[in-house]
Amino acid sequence: MDTIYSHSKLAIYERCPLAFQYKYIDKCKLDVPYIPIERFLGDCIHITLQKLYEHLIISPKYDVTLLEIINDFEYIWKENYNDSIKLREGQTQQEFIQAGHDMLELYFENNYPFTQEMNLCVEERLLWEIDGFKFIGFVDRISAIPEKNKLIINDYKTSSTMPEEDDLKKERQLVLYKMAIEEKYPEKEIELVYHFLRFGKKIKIDVTEEEQENIKKEVLNTVSEIQIDTWEKNFKSRVGERCEWCDYVSVCNAYKKKKGDTVFVQTKLL
Ligand code: SF4
Repeated sequence: MDTIYSHSKLAIYERCPLAFQYKYIDKCKLDVPYIPIERFLGDCIHITLQKLYEHLIISPKYDVTLLEIINDFEYIWKENYNDSIKLREGQTQQEFIQAGHDMLELYFENNYPFTQEMNLCVEERLLWEIDGFKFIGFVDRISAIPEKNKLIINDYKTSSTMPEEDDLKKERQLVLYKMAIEEKYPEKEIELVYHFLRFGKKIKIDVTEEEQENIKKEVLNTVSEIQIDTWEKNFKSRVGERCEWCDYVSVCNAYKKKKGDTVFVQTKLL
């Protein structure tokens, strides 16, 4: 079967090739998968906005209120919260719920009544090829400004740090999606927009052809490294700070060896 690549698959390999092996080659099953609360919050916000826009795609003139959006978020949070959500020392569930409220309030203030663009789809699955390698990706939301012949790829970020615009230009995820959509709609102008929800900031990224070409080359380099490691059955470990948040830390021999076979202690759970 052909391997299908994605931005997150490449990112796991770049963080630690051994984690890639555990996930995609060994298909390692985890007894107790832990989810950092930051990731859980991000997921709940994404589902809330997905629900909002699904509603608006069907009824573009629907006059949604902030209270409805917050109620949806709280419902999604309560329905999905479980023992696998991991909190670090000093963190509380309430502060993350409040962070969710604040993000949605800012988003509402900046975007109500949500009619500036035509919303086309949410969580759209894209399939495309780069030099014969298959890729898959899911776009948070695609919108359009028909009179400008423009399609907009929207991506929500819930991180608590705000990157520099130049660093965002080097981010490959939206550029990959742009390549996929360009292939399908070569006559459209494609705009890339990040929504930094904690800051209420919307950042448009212009990527030159040269920058896009460089990203393509980097992607193909990583694909080629993965193929060599797969062929040689030799995925190297990268033990470091990120191990604590790696899904495979409890089974990782490289981590245990580095730590002198000490048992990894899970940080505090709720
Ligand atoms: S625990 Fe660390 S070294 Fe082991 S797979 Fe995860 S990131 Fe790699």
